[in-house]
Amino acid sequence: MRLTGGRVFDPLKGFQRRDLCLEGDTIAAESGGETVDVSGCWVIPGLTDLHFHGCRGADLSDGDSAGLATMAAYELSRGVTQICPAGMTLDVPQLEQMCRTAAAHKASGVAGADLVGINLEGPFLSQKKKGAQNGAWIRDPDPALLLHLKELSGGLVKLVSLAPEAPGAVEFIRAVKDEVRVSVAHTACDYDQAMAAFAAGAKQATHLFNAMNPFAHRDPGPVGAAADSDCMAELICDGVHIHPAMIRAVFKLFGKDRVIIISDSLRACGMPDGQYELGGQDIFVKGPLATLADGTIAGSITDLMGGMVRAVGFGIDLHAAVTAAAVNPAKALGIYARYGSLDVGKAANIAVLDGDLGLRSVIFHGRMV
Ligand SMILES: [Zn+2]
Repeated sequence: MRLTGGRVFDPLKGFQRRDLCLEGDTIAAESGGETVDVSGCWVIPGLTDLHFHGCRGADLSDGDSAGLATMAAYELSRGVTQICPAGMTLDVPQLEQMCRTAAAHKASGVAGADLVGINLEGPFLSQKKKGAQNGAWIRDPDPALLLHLKELSGGLVKLVSLAPEAPGAVEFIRAVKDEVRVSVAHTACDYDQAMAAFAAGAKQATHLFNAMNPFAHRDPGPVGAAADSDCMAELICDGVHIHPAMIRAVFKLFGKDRVIIISDSLRACGMPDGQYELGGQDIFVKGPLATLADGTIAGSITDLMGGMVRAVGFGIDLHAAVTAAAVNPAKALGIYARYGSLDVGKAANIAVLDGDLGLRSVIFHGRMV
């Protein structure tokens, strides 16, 4: 297949007016076969969402294989061709079930976006900043539990969230950092505690600003520490969790190569307004807002493609937004050799956006979806 007439994303050179060739399931230098006219369109790598809980009525935390298949199918239809869904803070048997379900999904070869990892957002978090996580199941960092869950998942556990002030957090990071990427999250820590976590090997900050102390001028907290370290920062760009001015400020402060746009989407994403469940708690969805009964903002109902387009609407340059939604999450998960750009030899996972950034088509392993 040859896509002709489009503006093709390049991580270093910006958008280039050139043809893009696919051969079989791979991006190639040349191609025979059909030609598809994408004049006036943006041709970008399929996105990777490394932090979303669910969509279309399903949630990873359910530990349900049909639900995971539903999630993979929905995300693929939205141009999110690689997924690393996140579990909530659950009790250990539920975490084990979730990990087993992910491993079985991967082994089964079920259709839908490629499952490239799972993200354990909990249980090693702070009670003080639990947000929409269930406090009953929060526990102290436990490397043995993490490695046990990684094994049950068939190696799919790629990310774990951690509150740096939790007892044993620094020792935990040192013990697991070569096994699983550690992300600073749901934390009441100060700047120094966060810096200690980054120095020990934490490489990411989970939904920057949300469920952590603010970035204040004499008390810069984990946001200031993240900026001072070399970590990547997750950012929810649904327009509900973070003010657009802060989204612009983060791209300036961190640079486009250190921001990861995430959706943090819930099972209500892709569903009508109503009442849903999240990690054992009820959530209420109205318009773009999802909250607990007490008004605490729960996750988002905007998928990653929607969040990326909103970021552009807030003034982020399209090339920077695609970098943050496709390149950086692939690098964070260690899958950039195969995904995340349109270089020759990579998986032919592609999204084609029209001139108004509407999703026109998705190509998955070389085939039009
Ligand atoms: Zn969270």
